[in-house]
Amino acid sequence: MQITEIYKSIQGESTYTGLPCVFVRLTGCNLRCSWCDTEYSFYGGKKMEPEEVLAAVEQLSPEGGLVEFTGGEPLLQEQKLVPLMQQLLDSGYTVLIETSGERRLEHVPKGVVKIVDVKCPASGEEGSFRMENLETLGIHDEVKFVITGRKDYEFARDFVAQHSLAGRVSAVLFSPAFAKEAAGNRDTSNCMMDPRQLVEWMLEDNVPARLGLQIHKFIWDPALKSV
Ligand code: SF4
Repeated sequence: MQITEIYKSIQGESTYTGLPCVFVRLTGCNLRCSWCDTEYSFYGGKKMEPEEVLAAVEQLSPEGGLVEFTGGEPLLQEQKLVPLMQQLLDSGYTVLIETSGERRLEHVPKGVVKIVDVKCPASGEEGSFRMENLETLGIHDEVKFVITGRKDYEFARDFVAQHSLAGRVSAVLFSPAFAKEAAGNRDTSNCMMDPRQLVEWMLEDNVPARLGLQIHKFIWDPALKSV
């Protein structure tokens, strides 16, 4: 496997926000979202066997707990990733995978929590979500929309309604995008849209979604990696 980094921090997003989590960031992505904050994962990385990844996770979190596979796009390495995720589940870990949903999701083990980032228009990757993946989503999965403004918001709102997402998954998350060059201030000045405006729209339209803020960008300098 090609791995950019493995580290322990707290989960900054999703309904698992605030919990200790081991992050395994896989190298490589087939998308190029305009606001991507992990471009450093596109290339390079270190070659590791799945057993070495497992050992690194166990060393950071020997008592079990949360493990998230992220990237890049982790499912570009599906062949080795799927058995590794199953092994971690069998060892008692709670396993999350953060994916764009552009790759097929049907081989992701049932016990893994899929956090699917459906791309909105301003990402430049609208339409990348593989619609057949909707059928693979279960009640413990989550769908996230990263929103930069009104056009993205309307796309997300309509997608949620058209596909009855609220009834399919445990959470629909609307998150204001952070500027790619975000640095310094640990506050909403680094968001590409004011979270308050997003909340007002959500309330006006009674959208069955929850606001998501990337709390690690309020705890540490938003430019800091590996947190
Ligand atoms: S899918 Fe994720 S890693 Fe890939 S370009 Fe988009 S935000 Fe970056």
